Amino acid sequence: MQLVDQFLRKINYLRVSVTDRCDLRCVYCMKEKMNFLPKNEVLSLEEIERLCDNFIDLGVEKIRLTGGEPLVRKNIIHLINNLNKKKTSTNLKEITLTTNGSLLKRYAKDLKENGINRINVSLDTIIEKKFKEITRFGNLQNTLDGIEEAIKNGIKVKINTVVFKNFNEDQTTNLINWANSKLLDLTFIEVMPMSDTDMPRHMQFVSLDKIFKKLNNKYNFNQSNYKTGGPSNYFVSEKLDIKVGFITPLSNNFCATCNRVRISSTGKMYMCLGQNDYVDFREILRTDRGDEYIKDKIRFALSIKPKRHDFIINSEVKPYINRHMNETGG
Ligand code: SAM
Ligand code: SF4
Repeated sequence: MQLVDQFLRKINYLRVSVTDRCDLRCVYCMKEKMNFLPKNEVLSLEEIERLCDNFIDLGVEKIRLTGGEPLVRKNIIHLINNLNKKKTSTNLKEITLTTNGSLLKRYAKDLKENGINRINVSLDTIIEKKFKEITRFGNLQNTLDGIEEAIKNGIKVKINTVVFKNFNEDQTTNLINWANSKLLDLTFIEVMPMSDTDMPRHMQFVSLDKIFKKLNNKYNFNQSNYKTGGPSNYFVSEKLDIKVGFITPLSNNFCATCNRVRISSTGKMYMCLGQNDYVDFREILRTDRGDEYIKDKIRFALSIKPKRHDFIINSEVKPYINRHMNETGG
């Protein structure tokens, strides 16, 4: 079975936001004062699993758990354990997650034991004071300890770094050298205009074109054909033992090869991170509808998956996306 959208893109990747809550408040992701959803609006773990089952039946091979912070969701390991068991008897090949790493020290062993072999850890700076600034109250050491624990348990860690204007543009080589010393691939990401935060988006955004040129002078990059199933464009260098990736939703559109859809923590299926249209599954899951009905809705959603996002960041345009990144996950 294969899911194909209206532009004949094969969709085999599902990203699930398991909670909108988080123990940090990164300034590009959330406002300082956020109202999180009442618990009954968020899908239960059983509802998430049932939805995943239907996507897997239709051809999804990879599931990424995200959030909010996936590791703050109570009993998340139970969900991962159940999903992991499906790898032997279904299409599902990989479960992974994106985390801020703050709780990884506690969970790394459980994750590995339940089939998680690769994770992305978000880290925008390795300077303690700056880490507090960007996450509003995070503790850098927790994330660094979490990364060490994941490595110790045999989990492959990739670092994701959002490049934020006047904040970490000058630390990109510093981060690359740190990641290289630990043999961790690293991907830089452009800020996306996911709703309003406390600072206008044009004051946060840096085009990675500019950053790439600067880094290329230093590292003399060669394009790599390495792919992880995502939009990152990877480069290698004779001066490095790691790959350095660039995710450029604004400066270099990659929607033509999109292979993914997303489920929000409340059960809304977003066919595109950069559009507002969704198909709501929560009520379907909570009423007496069979799995065939769910599958029909998924097929319908795919038939209206947009061609591309229309992200734009400048001082005259307000973000047209009406949700923050923690609702749908990154
Ligand atoms: N809490 C987890 C974490 O931080 O890795 C998972 C959820 S977080 C929303 C997923 C990714 O989205 C992170 O790498 C984060 O840096 C990124 N992100 C959040 N808001 C963003 C924005 N407005 N533009 C670009 N990336 C963003
Ligand atoms: Fe939390 Fe991740 Fe958003 Fe930061 S980027 S506030 S860690 S959900």
